[in-house]
Amino acid sequence: MKYVVLIGDGMADYPLEELNNKTPLQVAEKPNMDEVAHKGVNGMLQTVPQGMEPGSDVANLAIMGYDPAQYYTGRGPLEAASMGVDLSENDVAFRCNFITEKEGILDDFNAGHITSTEASQLIHALNHSFGDIGTFHAGISYRHLFLYKHPQSSHLKTTPPHDIVGEKIEDYLISSESDGHASILNKLMQDSQNILLEQEVNKNRLAEGKKPANMIWLWGQGPKPQMETFQEKYGLNGATITGVDLIKGIGVYLGLNNISVPGATGYFDTDYKAKGKYAIDALPDHDVVFVHVEAPDEAGHAGDISEKIKGIEEIDSKILGPILDCLPDYNDFMLTLLPDHATPISVKTHTMDPVPYAVYGPGVKADAVEKYDEDSAEKGSLGLSKAHDLINKLLSGF
Ligand SMILES: [Zn+2]
Repeated sequence: MKYVVLIGDGMADYPLEELNNKTPLQVAEKPNMDEVAHKGVNGMLQTVPQGMEPGSDVANLAIMGYDPAQYYTGRGPLEAASMGVDLSENDVAFRCNFITEKEGILDDFNAGHITSTEASQLIHALNHSFGDIGTFHAGISYRHLFLYKHPQSSHLKTTPPHDIVGEKIEDYLISSESDGHASILNKLMQDSQNILLEQEVNKNRLAEGKKPANMIWLWGQGPKPQMETFQEKYGLNGATITGVDLIKGIGVYLGLNNISVPGATGYFDTDYKAKGKYAIDALPDHDVVFVHVEAPDEAGHAGDISEKIKGIEEIDSKILGPILDCLPDYNDFMLTLLPDHATPISVKTHTMDPVPYAVYGPGVKADAVEKYDEDSAEKGSLGLSKAHDLINKLLSGF
């Protein structure tokens, strides 16, 4: 038996006036997704437990079969794992964004999608100046890591920068009742501005009319999580295919094989075809392949309707289509199609809404659903379920 779980990050949406009150999934040309819905069973999945933040980390952990309420300690530690940074007992791993600050406002949560090469030079400068406070590790694009050896700091209240674009920075600094670590880390974020602005990278970006990476933003912190591997928990070996660090980090803790795809950027320009090909190539050696595509989520954050529709169509034609062509080579298989969460264009951030999912395979008896979208899945035979039960349901054949 082969299982493919195809995750279109943030694909689900709300009806949009610009689309005649349809969602991007309802408007996109996606014959393969519709075939999966038509030939399979459909329903809604609650991917984010009540009371937790609807982050991709929480949602993907749930989809992979681990109840986030039990296993999730923060986004930082997952990204640390993906970067090969092992956390010691006292380490708290913070996600460190490069952001663009403008006149006290958080202007851009990703510093104009700064390149990894530029970013690594800035990380080097930060370590040189602030190495006595903690350690910075360079990741991909605007997404980096800061290790702080003070376990108490894992309880500080921090804010995801993509949720406060256009807001006053001073309103969202780290808050904590009588905790000295909050003021140390707030000062670090503010002091980073002086160091970053004087770097050649930023001078060049400004000269080229690009947004400077003129501040760091610390958030999503936590200690190393304790979890059993996917093999131990479910008796299956698996692989991930993703351009996003935190999904790879989940893969590391779960003992999954993180397959790197050249050209997988975690953005609009990701190489969809390569992802499809690598997923197919991974099938002979793995029981489960999780294929995660970030692009629709980025389009949701950007409020870009046409990029979101395009992202869905690219996933459909270049990833899902080729996978559906080759899956019948295996005696038995199940393909699951879903987003991890909604990233509606109208709110430009993740929401708690249950997401539409479809499961298709030779052993699955189809329900009456014809198309893959939010409304259709609600009418499916599976009803509403919790995402962390998905793997067990796949194993029991639905
Ligand atoms: Zn996501």
